[in-house]
Amino acid sequence: MSDGTDTPSELVRAAASAGLDVVAITDHDTTAGWEEAVGALPSGLTLIRGAELSCVSTAGNGRPISVHLLAYLFDPQAPALVEEQRRLRVERRERLQRMAVRMAADGLPIDPDEVMASLPADGAAGRPHLARALVEAGLVSTVSEAFDKYLGSGGSYYLRRADTPVKRAIAMIADAGGVAVLAHPWAYSRGPTVADDVIVELAEAGLSGVEVDHPDHDPGTRERLRKLAAELDLLTTGSSDYHGANKPTPIGAETTDPEVYERLVARANGRTPVRG
Ligand code: AMP
Repeated sequence: MSDGTDTPSELVRAAASAGLDVVAITDHDTTAGWEEAVGALPSGLTLIRGAELSCVSTAGNGRPISVHLLAYLFDPQAPALVEEQRRLRVERRERLQRMAVRMAADGLPIDPDEVMASLPADGAAGRPHLARALVEAGLVSTVSEAFDKYLGSGGSYYLRRADTPVKRAIAMIADAGGVAVLAHPWAYSRGPTVADDVIVELAEAGLSGVEVDHPDHDPGTRERLRKLAAELDLLTTGSSDYHGANKPTPIGAETTDPEVYERLVARANGRTPVRG
């Protein structure tokens, strides 16, 4: 329901086919896919309902940077979270439209109206939607190339969003009974990342874990992050960040240790895992 290409039903079926026993659905800034995913859950597969919240942090040098926060097993009706997700979805649409208009004004083969019409009705818009439009227009051959040339955080068409201050998001997730895990904290290829000190501060603010095993983390990065997490007593998760055809990583390429999974589930009291 955001920037992946599978529907929620296709996602859970793909997870089962890949041999997973647990999968999380974590659309950007929406829980609109939960119901469909539960309805389509193949037998034997457990679903963790979650979302990936768009947040802003300082990098450690005072500069604002975008960070993503994975929220698992929270109450999707918690008022503060509902309102903030709604605001972010509006913000995402407006930002995408501004980016599309700028690209069209520069002569790129983008029709802003067509892009806006292609967005998921109840979902969250993201740069991959623009990237796909550029692929379909034949200007680039992959979504990654569109990011490298036009849409990356250093690219000429990148625009910031007014995201949620990350400590506020951690508090909102806790109030909704969920568990907060910092997504791919050191994915350097995507732009500036948070310093160690910031992760220390977030741990003090109630962060439960960090995503260590992620396609954008190389082995050295994983090792350093695992060490920091151990010092801070943070859970360390693994996930593929599967986006269907929008990214080359297959579903199930990265996984979370079962013991860590059990600890994560034990911390949540907003929603329970659903077993198919
Ligand atoms: P946005 O939420 O609009 O800022 O876009 C972020 C989304 O773009 C996330 O789903 C990322 O996984 C995806 N993304 C970021 N960099 C790349 C890239 N180089 N190739 C493909 N997808 C990317």
